Amino acid sequence: REKRGRLPRYPGLERWTLISKMGDGAFSNVYRAKDSLGELGEVAIKVVRKYELSSSQGANHMHPGFKKIPKTVERANILKEVQIMRQLDHPNIVKLISFSESKQYYYIILELCPGGELFHQIVRLTYFSERLSRHVITQVAEALKYLHEEKGVVHRDIKPENLLFEPIPFFPTKDPKPKNPNDEDKADEGEFIPGVGAGGIGRIKIADFGLSKVVWDSVTMTPCGTVGYTAPEIVKDERYSKSVDMWALGCVLYTLLCGFPPFYDESISVLTEKVARGQYTFLSPWWDDISKSAQDLVSHLLTVDPDKRYTIEQFMEHPWIRGTDEETYPAA
Ligand code: ADP
Ligand code: MG
Repeated sequence: REKRGRLPRYPGLERWTLISKMGDGAFSNVYRAKDSLGELGEVAIKVVRKYELSSSQGANHMHPGFKKIPKTVERANILKEVQIMRQLDHPNIVKLISFSESKQYYYIILELCPGGELFHQIVRLTYFSERLSRHVITQVAEALKYLHEEKGVVHRDIKPENLLFEPIPFFPTKDPKPKNPNDEDKADEGEFIPGVGAGGIGRIKIADFGLSKVVWDSVTMTPCGTVGYTAPEIVKDERYSKSVDMWALGCVLYTLLCGFPPFYDESISVLTEKVARGQYTFLSPWWDDISKSAQDLVSHLLTVDPDKRYTIEQFMEHPWIRGTDEETYPAA
């Protein structure tokens, strides 16, 4: 109730009653909202400001505090984000409900993911068991497979902040299956964690298509551009951009399993260098109890050479994903 008093009113959003703020960035605020007509239930609304906040006050008499320069690049980006989302229909991808704009804002109405960011769940649980990690990463991979193979779309911003979830509405308990199948008696230990239960963590959905790009035309089944005249670097670029998502998938999987990212340094230049060299380790003691099979999969994703990096098909075929490796699924 108190929160509601501080929520802004946006022109053109009268249909929606804002409930709370779910996320904010430099140019966007995301709200949980309710349809006052009662037709669409609850949604998420991403509100994107059209004008850059001006540092020089009074630069424009009409809009104090705002530069009256439409961010045209931003506009093209927003329209692209919406255009791409319109074509998508997958259980593991946040659905676009509608798009509208007012003088100062763009409004992207989205399917609500009440569980919030996967990022927060990692922070909460420290790390995920192998079983829970597999449950999560497989869903992300299903969405990527759909994007890469059916839609020719690369996401380009896969990270725990952009992976949201719909919590399972029943039986909350800590991940009930112990990491080591020999510790079956430890199964019911743990605190109450809403949304994380016997079935996993609920349904995972990819959000934020702000950096995504169409690399091939799903109608002509060719790389974007004129058929037959496509240059090798364009064909390659399509492959490379898909492999960008696979690298990110490897980073997410690594983070799920141990609770910290594969590449980190306080200095951006050092960090950049580490990434460029693919310099990461399975740090002891955190990785000591994680299966060799999981490590094998991570290492095939965090491969510097994009030609050698796993594709989505290879990922799906890996024994750790299929559940056929001897280590995490010992033969009965
Ligand atoms: P940005 O481009 O600013 O990163 P995002 O689309 O990633 O915008 O949204 C920012 C944040 O808002 C997300 O990280 C998430 O916390 C929240 N959010 C976005 N979409 C939804 C949604 N459909 N349901 C719930 N929360 C959302
Ligand atoms: Mg984001």
